[in-house]
Amino acid sequence: MLSKLSVEELIEQIKLNKISAEEVTNHFVEKTALVDPKIKSCISTVFVKGGDGILKGIPFMVKDNMEVTGTKTTCASKILENYVSPYTAMAVQKLLDAGGVVIAKTNMDEFAMGASTEYSNFFTTKNPWDLQRVPGGSSGGSASAVASGMVPFALGSDTGGSIRQPASFCGIVGYKPTYGLVSRYGLVAFASSLDQIGPLTKNVRDAALIGNIIMGKDQKDSTTVEKQMNLLKEIEDPIEGFKLAIPKEFTKGLSDSVKNVLNDAIDNFKKMGVKVDEVSIPSLKYAVAVYYIIAPAEASSNLSRYDGIRYGLSFDGESVDDIYTKTKDEGFGREVKRRIMLGTFTLSATYYDAYFDKAQKVRAKIVHEIKQVFNSYDAIIGPTTPSVAFKIGQLSSPLEYYLQDIYTIPANLAGLPAISLPMGKVDGLPIGLQIMASRFEDEKLLRIGRNYEISRGKFPLPEVIL
Ligand code: GLN
Repeated sequence: MLSKLSVEELIEQIKLNKISAEEVTNHFVEKTALVDPKIKSCISTVFVKGGDGILKGIPFMVKDNMEVTGTKTTCASKILENYVSPYTAMAVQKLLDAGGVVIAKTNMDEFAMGASTEYSNFFTTKNPWDLQRVPGGSSGGSASAVASGMVPFALGSDTGGSIRQPASFCGIVGYKPTYGLVSRYGLVAFASSLDQIGPLTKNVRDAALIGNIIMGKDQKDSTTVEKQMNLLKEIEDPIEGFKLAIPKEFTKGLSDSVKNVLNDAIDNFKKMGVKVDEVSIPSLKYAVAVYYIIAPAEASSNLSRYDGIRYGLSFDGESVDDIYTKTKDEGFGREVKRRIMLGTFTLSATYYDAYFDKAQKVRAKIVHEIKQVFNSYDAIIGPTTPSVAFKIGQLSSPLEYYLQDIYTIPANLAGLPAISLPMGKVDGLPIGLQIMASRFEDEKLLRIGRNYEISRGKFPLPEVIL
């Protein structure tokens, strides 16, 4: 069963000559053709082959907000429905150079704004554990594809939780590297101070392996830094004596069933000789509010480029204003319009101080309070999501969706590395454990994650319906 194997296991099989690189690629292409009609992870299937490195023949999928030369990059939006990438995103290029093969571009919430893929302009992706439910979002296509064995790994982007929340809902691993570790060149910008590319994988070792390949300083993204890291090197060194903090803001109001699963995780850590303390980070209660001012403000600026003149969809009009209005009205979906309006409002001269400026100050306070915790603790843990995957169509108000990100947003506001990995099941559905570490402590983050993963034992993959 090649579909169940991790990236490392596939590499091993190829090395041992048990199977050829081509056979591996073909297996997953065929698997995708069989499974995707049920799950609907892919917006387009493509075939972009790489060079001759460690990933030779290993197929992967790319969220449809990352450029891959000659493929459509739609962001699941009508406004970019026919836009073809003239260049390749740096993270994707590095994977291609290592030998990887891109076999599909995956579904997402339009412009990565959402938590379920229900805001895709094309279709909703299904959760492979239960086809009535959402896979999470916005990288729901990537997460569901990995969970259902269509590819051994995929790339997603995370602005407020979009890698970790779908990983939690689909029972896989989602890793958001430290802001500045992976180049965002070729990632369609949503909120530039928060966006980060990262892998969705079957286990923590694969997250480290892919992380090692995609990280690095890039002249084309000035927020990237020169850092020498090897995420795999000490990943299985014991973590005895480590100290973990659980903010009570992350457990307040949790259902008993989620609490039970979390308590099991805490017990596992304690058995490894890790200290786990409850702490308080009072300003976390403002994280969602702050995010929903800052992210839409940055989005309203970033999305102003889709004006019917430079990119994508274009409508004729009597005047330039007319072209702008018609194109945006036709091209953007409801949620994207809502965010643009929210962002434009909070950035307007009259309200700037009251909203945007204040949100920046509160963001600084959140960063400061989190830093203080890291003075005494190695990492912060908690559930990735307040609950398991919800049903398609179950949530109605925007606020219900926004509250999905309550535990994931702080890592983006503070630029921290964070990972979600399977913690257990509630009502037969997976839920993730989130671990966050201090900036550029990605090695430590994955080491804690890997040790927990070993202690928990192998998490099953869903039985994929053929
Ligand atoms: N769900 C969040 C939002 O709608 C986060 C999205 C993301 O991380 N791209 O903004």
